[in-house]
Amino acid sequence: MKSLQELVRPNIWSLAPYSSARNEYSGHVAHVFLDANENPFNQPYNRYPDPLQEEVKAQIEKVKGVPAECIFLGNGSDEAIDLVYRCFCEPKKENVVAICPTYGMYEVCADINDVEYRNVMLDENFQITAEKILEATDANTKAIWICSPNNPTGNNINRDEIIKVIESFEGFVIVDEAYIDFSSEPSFSRVFQNMQGKVSNLIVLQTMSKAWGSAAIRLGMAFASKEVIDIFNKVKYPYNVNQLTQEQALKRLNDSYGVEQWVNILLQERGRMLRAFAELPVCEKVYPTDANFFLARVTDATGIYNYLVEKGIIVRNRHRIALCQNCLRVTIGTKDENNELLGALRQL
Ligand SMILES: *Cc1c(COP(=O)(O)O)cnc(C)c1O
Repeated sequence: MKSLQELVRPNIWSLAPYSSARNEYSGHVAHVFLDANENPFNQPYNRYPDPLQEEVKAQIEKVKGVPAECIFLGNGSDEAIDLVYRCFCEPKKENVVAICPTYGMYEVCADINDVEYRNVMLDENFQITAEKILEATDANTKAIWICSPNNPTGNNINRDEIIKVIESFEGFVIVDEAYIDFSSEPSFSRVFQNMQGKVSNLIVLQTMSKAWGSAAIRLGMAFASKEVIDIFNKVKYPYNVNQLTQEQALKRLNDSYGVEQWVNILLQERGRMLRAFAELPVCEKVYPTDANFFLARVTDATGIYNYLVEKGIIVRNRHRIALCQNCLRVTIGTKDENNELLGALRQL
């Protein structure tokens, strides 16, 4: 890949980051803090949180096997997505490439940052070749977005093709693994670790919002080489992950066995839902999935969506999304919730 300096925007490369009060002493044990204009009352929430979330990262290192220095934590994955544009993509000049259909935030953040967004269509099996992705790039392409398992289609993108893209492309390849804990395939964060020692162009995104059951706390993770993580840390808001979130994340990460049990229950329910949907008269096709949701093509997505809303059951209507005509995206819920959905659809 290109050198890191060639990939980072010049203003970011030369940026002197904000230095917070607590950055400036280091290596000393202190007990009187009169440096940050905090209120001494209302402990423990009177103090600014750890700007680099070291305790949380140490626990993620244990659970995921990614070294703490290769982890960025943000206010949801959305923060990491936005940082890719702010750190690497020159507005009005550079571009990114993404598969289509995929997660909507890549395009929204491109639009906000005034960076050209290029779609490459998946085929009818929601797959793509490395060649097709690379054809859409040019000298001004800074990043390629690959979501796998992909949202809204649910399937893993062919692993060999992703590896080919990572190996051939000169800029960053971001693999969004929001649903990796539900997938039968391993994370790319292991591939990334094997590249230690040279600046890897791979950035892997994960989140606490799905399998970890913590969408409300807003904690997203980016795994990348230390050099890339250092750039993200320089540009992020100094206290981007608040104290309550750090505490709750630690609690969850200390109980990864509990998360494993949730995932097992959801995978079992997923199998049951896929079989039940295949039998429904209104269902024309159920697409294969490696996530905690699935896409189903039905006779009339908008009509069925509205019918379900009337009954207080909300699924996602993806009818207007490319390649998803008459498709509903259904998240796997509890057994009772899933049964309520099936019951309503059987009445049609
Ligand atoms: C849900 C989801 C996320 C999670 O975003 P957060 O900001 O971490 O909640 C990221 N990527 C994809 C593809 C998703 O579907």
